[in-house]
Amino acid sequence: MTKQVGQPEVDVDRLAKTYPGGTEAVRGISFKVRAGEVFGLLGPNGAGKSTTIGMLTTAIIPTAGRARLAGFDVTTQPIAARLISATVTQDPAVDRALTGRRNLQIHARLWGARAAGTRISQVTEAFGLGDILDRPVGSYSGGQRRRLEIARALLSRPRVLFLDEPTVGLDPRIRHELLDLIGGLAACGDTTVLLTTHYLDEAERLCGRVAIMHKGRIAGLDSPQALRRRLGDQIIEVRADGRPIGGPRGPARLRAGRRRRVHRRPDRHRPGPGRRGHPRAGRRHRSGPARRADQHQAAHPR
Ligand code: ADP
Repeated sequence: MTKQVGQPEVDVDRLAKTYPGGTEAVRGISFKVRAGEVFGLLGPNGAGKSTTIGMLTTAIIPTAGRARLAGFDVTTQPIAARLISATVTQDPAVDRALTGRRNLQIHARLWGARAAGTRISQVTEAFGLGDILDRPVGSYSGGQRRRLEIARALLSRPRVLFLDEPTVGLDPRIRHELLDLIGGLAACGDTTVLLTTHYLDEAERLCGRVAIMHKGRIAGLDSPQALRRRLGDQIIEVRADGRPIGGPRGPARLRAGRRRRVHRRPDRHRPGPGRRGHPRAGRRHRSGPARRADQHQAAHPR
């Protein structure tokens, strides 16, 4: 299929999913992703990110609305939509008993990848898999397996790549290595990437634009920098017994004010009885000349 100028690569229009039992996981979301863009769905657990990816990858049937990949409707043209896309989910997708190379060869054959041998060499090199390619996948670390899964997804040269929580469960060093690889992939601009994450820094590092999902809805959509400006530049999370407190969950937790301080001067609002005789009791925080006058008075009492 030829690309039509101006047509979004991913076009989501009032898409909704209510699961049997009544959970409204996605409540009529709309967004468009341009060709070559890296777009993020950011939100806490339960926000509806995986359900959205599930519908876009044709694994979950929407209850309402529609979505198109490169012009193909995911509900009425699911095979065409799948042929131009690839997905890396949170579940392991490679055969642990086989070597990395064998996994790639089987996938290339199943997807009819053109010039499979050359393509396997390309993705293997790009993802630094050369040294481990002939080892069984069962012996790979979590990060190595994730790299293999992304490399495998790219074998068919997909126009749209879906990455569902690509770094979940990885230790910080491996996570940053993988982010560099995904960033490099994005910089090529050949593939449109739609990823989900619940890490703001990950979205900031990789994505041109981000949709913040909360309870099945899009609570904000913009560049990560613009969202951060709007939400404040500090994240304050208060926990008791390991659980967030105070009610607000998800995006509300990101709405910390600019440079807000969490500590409070004990004398600022409640001049306690023990401080009555203190020269600054009951006063607001004093600075500059007023403070110097206090200091002078303390050093030279009349
Ligand atoms: P996220 O990926 O943001 O963590 P999900 O899309 O997995 O969110 O889940 C959104 C909501 O849908 C949650 O309340 C979840 O419990 C519910 N949900 C997800 N999958 C199913 C399912 N198969 N059946 C019923 N409810 C589901």
